[in-house]
Amino acid sequence: MSEELSVKDVIAATGFRFNKGLGQNFLTDKNLLAAIAFDSGLGKDETAVEVGTGAGTLTRALAAIAGRVISFEVDSSLAPVLELSLRGVENAEVIFRDVLKMSDEQFEEIVSGEFRLVANLPYYITTPLIMRFLESDLPVKSLTVMVQKEVADRLVAEAGSADYSAVTLAVQMAGSAKITRLVSRKMFYPAPNVDSAVVHIEVERGKLAGEDVPLIHKLVRSAFAMRRKTLANNLSVAFGISKSDAADIISAAGLDPFIRGERLSLEDFKTLSHVFLKS
Ligand code: SAM
Repeated sequence: MSEELSVKDVIAATGFRFNKGLGQNFLTDKNLLAAIAFDSGLGKDETAVEVGTGAGTLTRALAAIAGRVISFEVDSSLAPVLELSLRGVENAEVIFRDVLKMSDEQFEEIVSGEFRLVANLPYYITTPLIMRFLESDLPVKSLTVMVQKEVADRLVAEAGSADYSAVTLAVQMAGSAKITRLVSRKMFYPAPNVDSAVVHIEVERGKLAGEDVPLIHKLVRSAFAMRRKTLANNLSVAFGISKSDAADIISAAGLDPFIRGERLSLEDFKTLSHVFLKS
């Protein structure tokens, strides 16, 4: 933020109107913004990709520690706000486009090379955004995302717990996740109805080298498709096989044929994929 104007001042000066549907709750506390930028692990020669520029407060904190920042925002009515709030920041560029609607090729035309992704987005987009980057071949080194506290618990959940879900496994397949800080709703302007947490996912390229990754993704998705059903039931629907064939495959993987998908670890899914490939 320019030294003279606060976010509230900039918003008042430009007459900007918040769009609730786009989850426009902005962070203003400089210490918190610097801490989130720190959590991203960005080095001074690295590129930050921010999704959801908002009033540019996090953009500014990222630009202070990164080589360059490319920030995507869907709401072009923020342009006058950003013109003021990012004044004097030479290494940040705002692109008014929706990353979720761009192909990898379109994305790479704008962001070439490795990058660390940082996002404080509306909650309904965070899971699709995380999946979009973890399942792509884009050279993303890490994702640091502000999410609703409940979503954070899901991202770092243990197998068998109520929070364990397909997205937990998608994260484990790509790297490792930790909650770096809890953020009270009071830290946002305007304040939302929920508390948040920052989750940092460090991507480990080649973690599943030699494995049939699309098959593991399909097994994971189908295992959680109907949570109340057994794994055999879910696999039979997803793969078009009989329940008894599915149960045989599960047994051959060393698992209880009546087990539910939510009890399987990533290792179990890998073993299951090996049995599938042989069957
Ligand atoms: N990064 C800022 C901050 O920390 O204060 C803004 C956060 S605000 C919660 C989320 C921002 O994401 C809003 O400005 C909203 O317009 C934008 N947004 C919503 N959907 C988006 C999308 N699909 N792609 C990019 N930006 C999006």
